[in-house]
Amino acid sequence: MILLNYFNIMDRDNICIATQFITMATDVICGMKVKESTDLKSEFQGKTFYFCSSHCKSEFDKNPLKYSR
Ligand SMILES: [Zn+2]
Repeated sequence: MILLNYFNIMDRDNICIATQFITMATDVICGMKVKESTDLKSEFQGKTFYFCSSHCKSEFDKNPLKYSR
């Protein structure tokens, strides 16, 4: 599951001066949003899964079938 988040950068007068696009993924173990630039990821059945911690990654690696659906 991949979400695109928008971050508006405002100046002091509350005028939007820039919009940053950051692609976020959901850690399927704990449900946290994680940046796709993380090194904590696993590939399974051609899909890439991203994790917030090595704990979540090892949990996924133990039983990827359970979490990849
Ligand atoms: Zn996690």
